Amino acid sequence: MKPVVHYRDTRGLARGNPAFTDVVARGIAPGGGLYVPASLPELTLGEILAVGEMPYWRRAAAIFSRFGVDVSDERIDTLMQRAYGSQWDDARIAPVVEARPDMHVLELWHGPTSAFKDMALQCMPLFFSEAISMLHARERALDDYLILVATSGDTGKAALEGFVDREHTNIIVFYPADGVSELQRKQMITQRGSNVSVFGVRGNFDDCQNAVKAAFNDEEFNAELHDRWGIGLSSANSINWGRMLPQVVYYVSAYADMVAGGGVKAGDPIDVCVPTGNFGNILGAFYAKEIGVPIDRLLCASNENNVLSDFIATGVYDISERHFVKTPSPSMDILISSNLERLLYHLTGSPSAREWTRQLAEEKHFGVDRDTFTQMRDFLVGDYVTNDTSLATIRRAHEETGYLPDPHTAVAWEVAERLRGENPVLVVSTAHWAKFGVDVFKALSGIPYSEPLPAQYEGSSAIDILAHVRQIAPEACVPSAIAELDTLPERFTRVVDAGRDGIETAVRDWLSP
Ligand SMILES: *Cc1c(COP(=O)(O)O)cnc(C)c1O
Repeated sequence: MKPVVHYRDTRGLARGNPAFTDVVARGIAPGGGLYVPASLPELTLGEILAVGEMPYWRRAAAIFSRFGVDVSDERIDTLMQRAYGSQWDDARIAPVVEARPDMHVLELWHGPTSAFKDMALQCMPLFFSEAISMLHARERALDDYLILVATSGDTGKAALEGFVDREHTNIIVFYPADGVSELQRKQMITQRGSNVSVFGVRGNFDDCQNAVKAAFNDEEFNAELHDRWGIGLSSANSINWGRMLPQVVYYVSAYADMVAGGGVKAGDPIDVCVPTGNFGNILGAFYAKEIGVPIDRLLCASNENNVLSDFIATGVYDISERHFVKTPSPSMDILISSNLERLLYHLTGSPSAREWTRQLAEEKHFGVDRDTFTQMRDFLVGDYVTNDTSLATIRRAHEETGYLPDPHTAVAWEVAERLRGENPVLVVSTAHWAKFGVDVFKALSGIPYSEPLPAQYEGSSAIDILAHVRQIAPEACVPSAIAELDTLPERFTRVVDAGRDGIETAVRDWLSP
């Protein structure tokens, strides 16, 4: 048997020695902390470059195996072949594209929902089912699990595609009825499958998330699900370690590809620039650096919700005076970046991580000590991009290079241009442009973000607008799963009240139709 790695938690409150499948099934640690591996593997340059010779599923299997996952290597191989198979529209899965000789782009959106969440959510649900089966074998599990997801857009669809048809799991997604784009809503309400459901919630994303959390914490409701239906609740949110590990893989993979493609000399450092919201994607780059990938600096790119770039500049994380700003990169519209807690833990240990997260929850701000700040500044820099600059960047990138970035990618593109130094930069691209096609159209047509489309486009659907983008950028194609959205039947059109009762009623109705 290969060695199994056990997990700690960021607040130092969890007991026992959980392994990978345990922490995937549990999600969050008792006491509210996030699980982190007790030890990290060390990869040699030879090992890192060797993954460049493998198909992507093998790259993922190799990294998972090195992280001491408590599943046999044969089984990991099977699951990875499934996770990174023919449902991707590029056999390379996460290709590195040279947009310009000095601008390499890591494309993370070739999965079924055209956004980067697929990288983790095509993989993590397979390990979730595996964990449940292992618990069944030890007679410690309920029959079935119900995953509840509150989404502001991209996660909902990616979670639906990840959990559809999985054994012993059902999934219900709740989205703010007026808070997601038309295209995101269509992606969700047309979802196929018999173990899935989707509800709109009257309210904004915070209302939606709070209501789902309240249902999770309602002991009576949990007991009712357990006694009456043999069902336990679980979540698939981005703090689950099962979503973190797949995000380490593509940084190892990208470095090997850059060396193979001549973008960097073997062993020389690169910088990576990541459009950041919850700090999950960029934390994948941090772990890749920790295990030996020659990554020098992490460039953290924010939109107008720039709490993270301010934190990196000052060492103070302050949300007391902040309000959400609406941006063309909605998947980065986050004030509390949950995964930052993992970085703080790795820099300082659990007492500080626990204290700072408490301060943030209770006092709405915290500041790190000088020593931690110095450590952090050594490899982490950040900047932010305004809404109009994001759109201007889309247009400029397209005019200068022929590459058409989505608004999230554009934020990273611009920050990479500003902060680049000696090292080659890898810009991380997190969504296909078509997913945010209306704003891309505004960008290419020079319409400011805050202005509506001209009257001639009134009545056009988001999918219709994509054709207008293609008149300006004929080489840009639209993924078929997006192109066909207007033709699919709308299966889930119910909207429920915000609040615990709305969520619980929706769950009960779904269980006994
Ligand atoms: C989720 C998401 C992000 C932000 O990633 P984090 O891991 O939350 O920092 C950026 N871009 C897109 C398109 C996303 O879906």
